[in-house]
Amino acid sequence: MDYLKLTQYYARLENSPKRLEKTGIVRELLSLCSKRDLPLIMRLLLGKVFLQTSEEKTGVSTKLVIKALSSVTGISTYVIEKEWIKIGDLGIVAEKLTHEKKQSTLFSKSLTLKNVFENISDLSNKEGKGAVEQKIALMKELLSSGSPIENKYLVRLFLEDLRIGVGESVIRDAIVWNHHNVNYSEGKINPESREKYNEMVEAVQQAYDLTNDFVLVLETIKEKGFAGLEKLSLVPGIPINPMLAIKANDEKEAVDSVGLPCLIDYKLDGFRVEVHFDGKKYKLFTRKLEDVTKQFPEVVEVIKEKIKANNYVLDAEIIGLDLKTEKHLPFQKISQRIKRKYKIEEMIKKLPVELQVFDLLYWNSKSLTNLTQKERRELLTKVIPKVKNKLTYVTGMVAKNIEEIKQFYKNALELGHEGIMVKNLSKHYTCGRKVGGWIKLKPTLENLDLVIVKAEWGTGKRGSWLSSFTVACKSGNEFYEVGKVSTGAKEKSKGLSYEELTGLLKPLIIKENGKEVEVHPKIIIEVAYEEIQKSNTYNSGYGLRFPRLIRLREDKPLNEIARINDIKHIFETQKSRNKIT
Ligand code: ATP
Repeated sequence: MDYLKLTQYYARLENSPKRLEKTGIVRELLSLCSKRDLPLIMRLLLGKVFLQTSEEKTGVSTKLVIKALSSVTGISTYVIEKEWIKIGDLGIVAEKLTHEKKQSTLFSKSLTLKNVFENISDLSNKEGKGAVEQKIALMKELLSSGSPIENKYLVRLFLEDLRIGVGESVIRDAIVWNHHNVNYSEGKINPESREKYNEMVEAVQQAYDLTNDFVLVLETIKEKGFAGLEKLSLVPGIPINPMLAIKANDEKEAVDSVGLPCLIDYKLDGFRVEVHFDGKKYKLFTRKLEDVTKQFPEVVEVIKEKIKANNYVLDAEIIGLDLKTEKHLPFQKISQRIKRKYKIEEMIKKLPVELQVFDLLYWNSKSLTNLTQKERRELLTKVIPKVKNKLTYVTGMVAKNIEEIKQFYKNALELGHEGIMVKNLSKHYTCGRKVGGWIKLKPTLENLDLVIVKAEWGTGKRGSWLSSFTVACKSGNEFYEVGKVSTGAKEKSKGLSYEELTGLLKPLIIKENGKEVEVHPKIIIEVAYEEIQKSNTYNSGYGLRFPRLIRLREDKPLNEIARINDIKHIFETQKSRNKIT
């Protein structure tokens, strides 16, 4: 397949708002793909040439793309920028300009998938002197050969913002459709085979959560059928989508869900890491599966020295520690360590951390995800040693009744933890989803993780910063506004500042409307509030009362932000909650 053909699929996907239609189109595309093209197409469908675990980015700003476009078309950057502000999408601008220029020197050769993939991959390797020129040259090489439609999507690929509405769940379903008799032109699933279909979706999802590799999943099905998926297992070194928890309002609700006796743990206020040792290399991955090994050499040092096994995978929390008081610090205090890649030694001294392991997923060449929680915890406490202020396993116990849970919860809060986790002793480890094996209990109305969709330039001394942020939740692929946050950040200096947020949001601006700007939904923030109210102002139908910005959630993927149903649920139950103080 050549790149032009792929862009025709991109266009069909972009113009098909319905999820089922999209699934049918992706199915068709996958069925046409050769074995050689499949790995490239799988990544290009998700709009990113780099692996999810890679820290690489194209590192291309709109300004740089405008320069490349100007150089290819001979049109000034000023004119292109004006068009961009008017249209709000640089991809469409590129399409238009290429169209106008098509009689001239453009279209010198046809673009292959390999060309496109390689040039875009190379964009990330350019640093230092001459990097800007080299990046422009790589983009120009592609743009000067591209037709209007090819250039539209090239520009979006450069900017890592494809906008065709294809996420992992569409690809998952398309893989199932490819092997199941679905009448995809109508997108209908034969009712008799509904149950079988659901099982297949579940099997593909589970295989993907364990491997993070749709190509492997698809090839396995082709070679060995669906039964082959069961054999796919966690591989040390390759991160999995971790198990998630459901929130309960009180101890009774938690127990109703997981039964008694159950495992209870402190819910630590740090950030999650998957710790992988494949026998050679140690790796730490965040919940978004980003590799953060370099940022925590002291953690690597202690596990290397103290944990004795040929290979393993641990699920754990990195938590900040005040060495003087030996108290844990809230997440905000250590959040800077996730991104910080220079002067690490200084950071280790300033913001020391401890690794607290709460689950064991792989040990000495055996996957443990199918063991029960009870079996996994028993093994965990045997094999993870305690090293003061550096390494331990989470404090937990088996509770036999609600009273024990209440007491443990009280202790957890007194010690400054976020709450507790209540875990079903007989459940195995379920990657990637909130299926009820783990329940979290936290005292206040739950903060919401929301995405910024609009922002407003400030006034007076905040004039050069964006200082008010409209936030939205999700339903399906759409975003729905729920409030405007203008308190919680600092002006400058440490912590989350307006200056930092402005820096993050500026490159994401799509449209300007007086003082208000619309931005690509990328930046996720945690928001606290007093109450949820019904609202006509926001298109979600709900509004947050007194919303305050708590922190950036750089660790959270976009598909895990609050959903409209979560907000509805909080709205409906907020009055009856037992607040624990
Ligand atoms: P929150 O914002 O409430 O921390 P979340 O949205 O990040 O929650 P949840 O799935 O709701 O994620 O809660 C599970 C998170 O709690 C895990 O991702 C992990 O980082 C953290 N955690 C802390 N202590 C534990 C523990 N003992 N067992 C499991 N997870 C724990």
